[in-house]
Amino acid sequence: MTLNKQQLDQMFEAARPLKEWLGANCHPHCTALVESDRIILVEGIAGGPFPEDEEDSACPECGGKLSNESVEAGMNGRAYRQATCFECGRVVRNFGEGWEVRS
Ligand SMILES: [Zn+2]
Repeated sequence: MTLNKQQLDQMFEAARPLKEWLGANCHPHCTALVESDRIILVEGIAGGPFPEDEEDSACPECGGKLSNESVEAGMNGRAYRQATCFECGRVVRNFGEGWEVRS
């Protein structure tokens, strides 16, 4: 499935109130999954990349360790991984061809 720009904009707009509710009522490790017939609130206990994949998870700016990785829907419908560098704090993205600093 791919989404066009309008559908992607609509999805973000529809999700914004839930994002704000999560921010006001839950801690940052909670995730809401909305399906066609239910909603599930889940809590991440612990996580991160497997150690054997860590060379794939170095900050392109400073080589620091990346954390808080998530999968996002790109503006063009392509999914990408997003993470934050523990060392320099930069937000980086990976479209499948390595990490780059978010512009
Ligand atoms: Zn860094």
